[in-house]
Order: sequence, then C-alpha cells, then structure tokens
Amino acid sequence: MSGLLLKGINKVYPSGVQAVFNFCLDIRDKEFIVLVGPSGCGKSTTLRMIAGLEDISSGELYIDGKLVNDVVPKDRDIAMVFQNYALYPHMTVYDNMAFGLKLRKVPKEIIDQKVKAAAEILGITDYLSRKPKALSGGQRQRVALGRTIVREPKVFLLDEPLSNLDAKLRASMRTEISKLHSRLATTFIYVTHDQVEAMTMGTRIVVMKDGFMQQVDTPQNLYDYPVNLFVAGFIGTPQMNFFKNARLVSEGNKVCVTFVGGNKIVLPKSVVARIKNINEYLNVDKDITLGVRPEDIHQDQAFIANSPETIIKARIEVIEKLGAETQIYCELDYDGKESSVIDNSTQMIAKISSRAVVSLKEVVELAFDAHHLHLFDGDTEASMLERDEGYEVIPENAEGSAFTPPTPQEMRAQIDAARIVTKEMKAQMRKDAKMAKRTAAMAAKENAETPADEDKAE
Ligand code: ADP
Repeated sequence: MSGLLLKGINKVYPSGVQAVFNFCLDIRDKEFIVLVGPSGCGKSTTLRMIAGLEDISSGELYIDGKLVNDVVPKDRDIAMVFQNYALYPHMTVYDNMAFGLKLRKVPKEIIDQKVKAAAEILGITDYLSRKPKALSGGQRQRVALGRTIVREPKVFLLDEPLSNLDAKLRASMRTEISKLHSRLATTFIYVTHDQVEAMTMGTRIVVMKDGFMQQVDTPQNLYDYPVNLFVAGFIGTPQMNFFKNARLVSEGNKVCVTFVGGNKIVLPKSVVARIKNINEYLNVDKDITLGVRPEDIHQDQAFIANSPETIIKARIEVIEKLGAETQIYCELDYDGKESSVIDNSTQMIAKISSRAVVSLKEVVELAFDAHHLHLFDGDTEASMLERDEGYEVIPENAEGSAFTPPTPQEMRAQIDAARIVTKEMKAQMRKDAKMAKRTAAMAAKENAETPADEDKAE
C-alpha cells in the first residue's frame, strides 16, 4: 500500500513567493495522478515537496499514513525522474542503472537480477553495455526510468520526463509510461504542462493555476464538466470558444442564450434543468459566458436541419486544412466590419469535416450541439451547470466532484494577502537586521571602551 495524503500544503519560498496554496489531495495506492497547468503554477514545487527536495512551509504530508514532513528524501521510499535525465556519461547503461543500489550496498547478485529485470521491462536489454552517448533521447529516458525502477520505490515522481523528446517519441513514450504503470502497479505522480499528456496518462488529473488547485477529476470529467472557465479553456485543443457578455433570457416557455452579433440559441430542456440557481441569471442584468468546443459546432446540412434552434451565422476568416479535419476561424459580428485579429471576443474556431466545401469570406450557417454547451458565471467564472446523471465517478472516490476551487477574486485576495505578509516579514527582517547591527555596534563600542577604562584604571 502506498497512498499519499496531502493536507493543506503551502509553500512560500525564502524569496517570499508563495508557490502553492492549500494543496489538499488524497492519492490512493496505484493511482496515476497527473499535475497539470501552465508554467509557474506550482506543479514542480508540489512534486519536490513530496520528494522532500523542498521544505513544506505549512501543512502535512503523509505517505502510507506516516507523517513525513521532516523525513529526508532517501528515507521516503520515493524515486524521482527529472526532465533532464542526468545519466553518468562515463558509465555503461548497466552501471548507470546499478549505481544507486551499489551506493546502498545491495549484494551484487541482487543488483544484477534487478537491473536485468528492469532492462527487460523497458526493452533496453540490448543496450546494457553501451554508454549513454550511443543512445537516442528516448533510450536515454528509458535508462533514467530504469535507474528508478531498480530501487522498487513505493511512489514514482516524474517531472516533465518527456519534454526533451520530439513529438513522435513523446507520443510513444507516453504509451510506454502508461504500460509501465500497469506493469509495476505502483503509485505514479506525474507533472506536465501538456494537457494531452495529462489526458492520456492520468487516472486522475489535478489542474492547477497560480499555485491553486482548480479541479481534481478523471480526464473525461475534466472535458465534459470543467468546473470553471480556466479548466474549460485549458483542456481541449483548439481551446473552447468563449462568448462573454452573454445573457440568459426566456421566450415563452423556452430558455435562450443571447450573445455576440445578435445571435440567439435555445437551450434544450435537459440543459436548462442542469442550471444551478437559474433565477440568479434568467432575465436579469447579469452577464454569463457561453462556452462551445470547436468540435461541437457543426456545418453539415443534416445536423443543421435537426438543430433549427441553435443555428448561427458566421463569416469564414481562415481555413486550415489538417487532412483528417478542417478548422475554420469565423467572425460572428461581421456586419460590414473587417474582423480584427486582436479582438477574439467575436470570433470562434469550428472543427468541421475535411470533405466540407467552404470558402474564405463566405457567410455560413453553423449549428451548435446544444447538449454539450457550457455556461459560466460572468463574475466568478464558475460553471453554472450541474453534471448529468451518470457521470464518471471513480470507485470509492467522489472528492473530484466535491472539491470547489477558489474564484479568481478569492485567488487574487490570497495572493495579495501572501504578498502583504511577505512585505511585512521583509520589513520586520530589515528592522531586526538594523537592530542587530545597532546592538552589535553598541557592544563593539562598549568592548572598545572597556579596555580604555581598564587602561585608565591601571
Ligand atoms: P511549474 O512547475 O508549475 O512551472 P514551479 O513550481 O516551478 O512551477 O514554480 C511555481 C512558482 O514558484 C513560480 O512563480 C516560480 O517562479 C516560483 N519558484 C520556483 N522555484 C523557486 C525558488 N527556488 N525560489 C523562489 N521562487 C521559486
């Protein structure tokens, strides 16, 4: 059993930067947890605190029920693979993999067994006598993984291990690591800024922003039920289209969303039923954001004929033919206006069939798949929708759906508060230093005067 429990973990660097705020996560044995978010959101810091390479400023970290805040890295039974797989260039692959065990004085025969077994798992048996410089990037990364596998740690920590590889190799190593996870049946915690890596490998994903957790969920739930605007925009490529300053209005017994360019769509009853606190939004002076994924915008005539209530008109500005599909960049507010590349609030991207015949500057009819629309509160940016019944719940674990992320306003307030504390701390430190200097100067003066007095006395 190798579960981890992170309870209210905060990290403030000596420079005063608060990199992680109140990180709480229950990681169960054999899970593949991915921490994902843009650069600087605190992923590596969190991983390094788990490894024991960074102190935890406050909060508690348990591994297998044991508090390990003050346990040194080598006693945590954890192995970490870094982005730059630092192999010893003068050693063979075999010796690189055996090195850690030799340091731990493991008997030679056992080292041999473990190195060979790990090499077998990773498919590098044929390279054991080679030096790292005679290996490709992918093979080197495998050796780096091998070095950690031989130690049979309870938990593997991987910090962007694939980011130095080219796109094709990254894709194949992704599969290798997933296979490795199921073969070793150990807990993996993986850090990446790449949402595709996160989505393809994680059993659960933690999306982070500015040091705060945003959502903890399965890949499918993150895609289907993003809790806020940030997660909605982060997961999925091309990213979800957002129409800000939209409104929820009723027309007879129907509920509609009005948005840019005078467009209006009718929401299906099933979506209306999922809107939380609908009266806060319906027919009142309150902005909402409508979110539509590019793949939920359709151009084919059959779909449009079946969706008369979600048809919009848009002018095609750019066509990107990708072979398997075509992406069109459209302007919604096109009446006599040239669209600006900078103002993307009136533009959207749609993924349509590669067989579709469309031309530049053409005004086309498109229809939204209204069952997969997203609605967000204009102020808090939180999703306004409940999940559908039958969403994917992980067995024995519903905390993904129970976790509520802070709003942007709350995050800003906490970041500002941390900054004020840092400022006050720094001011106090300066004061203390000044005081210490003054005391030292006084003491020096006294010392200097004392012998003089003594001199006088003599
Ligand atoms: P990520 O892994 O998501 O890119 P990091 O955890 O590396 O983010 O960094 C989070 C924040 O902490 C960033 O603002 C970064 O500049 C800051 N930071 C990281 N390491 C240090 C350090 N050693 N000293 C001070 N600030 C740091």
